[in-house]
Amino acid sequence: MRAMVLNRIGAALEWTELADRAPGPGMIRVKVAACGVCRTDLHVVDGELPGPVLPIIPGHEIVGRIDAMGPGVEGLRLGERVGIPWLGHTCGVCPYCREQRENLCDRPLFTGFTRDGGFATAVVADARFAFPLGEPNDDASGDAALAPLLCAGLIGWRSLVIAGPGKALGLYGFGAAAHIVAQVARWQGRSVHAFTRPGDTAAQAFARSLGAAWAGGSDEAPPEPLDAAIIFATVGELVPLALRAVRKGGRVVCAGIHMSDIPGFSYGLLWEERQIVSVANLTRQDGLDFLRLAPGMGIVTKVARYPLMQANQALADLRAGRFEGAAVLVP
Ligand SMILES: [Zn+2]
Ligand SMILES: [Zn+2]
Repeated sequence: MRAMVLNRIGAALEWTELADRAPGPGMIRVKVAACGVCRTDLHVVDGELPGPVLPIIPGHEIVGRIDAMGPGVEGLRLGERVGIPWLGHTCGVCPYCREQRENLCDRPLFTGFTRDGGFATAVVADARFAFPLGEPNDDASGDAALAPLLCAGLIGWRSLVIAGPGKALGLYGFGAAAHIVAQVARWQGRSVHAFTRPGDTAAQAFARSLGAAWAGGSDEAPPEPLDAAIIFATVGELVPLALRAVRKGGRVVCAGIHMSDIPGFSYGLLWEERQIVSVANLTRQDGLDFLRLAPGMGIVTKVARYPLMQANQALADLRAGRFEGAAVLVP
């Protein structure tokens, strides 16, 4: 197999030939057809998350086909198309796992962070955490089109559920996750308000093209008070801005795994039962719920494709905001 490997925090990924890996008990080997590039991959490369296992193959939005199975794998078959998400393994016995909150497991493994991921031609994964995806029947369900659903879509979905059922929704940061969540929220009949970097009229136009009722800079007030806001951008300064934009009892959901420091703000912004919550990881149930509904939502992902060897370019373009939607590596 070949992979783009992170050997050292802050270094470029290196194109590396590795011995093929045999799946152990309960594991599957998946031939990677497409792997999305997520902002979390940038956080891994930049050393902003505690506890990476180096060297590591990043990538946790994997679509591929099973080409080998270890003993004891149930419910999957050779050749089946599956998705491999960020949550790679949970212990099953800690208090969180027992409370159906496996996203908070005390001893998890995360794909592309503490277990090798999908910036590769093949990946070995725990079969119980793989999602059957069915076969593609149109462009919108092709391998590269589906890859961003595996994290941007799933975390976006969990964030949307946690945001509550309110109609007026704000999305701060209009990247891979927001461009999917905007479509899901529209499908649910909500009114989407997209906040971008001030002056980023291209991103605002992109948001409107996906059905946003309003799009503007993060320094602007929305035309109506929001029921909830989801912050996808990694900028702590957005938290008080989002609190200011939500109505009494409104909720601000921080959906990123990493954020810059949140500046101090007056208690008046939190008063009247406004809430700030964070979303961490995903449960398998989130994935099953979302992937069951997704085909009927009419989600069209906008994808910038890169050859696997150009993973560093994809990461640089993500950092600089040089594409709309999501980047996907294709081996
Ligand atoms: Zn656990
Ligand atoms: Zn991700």
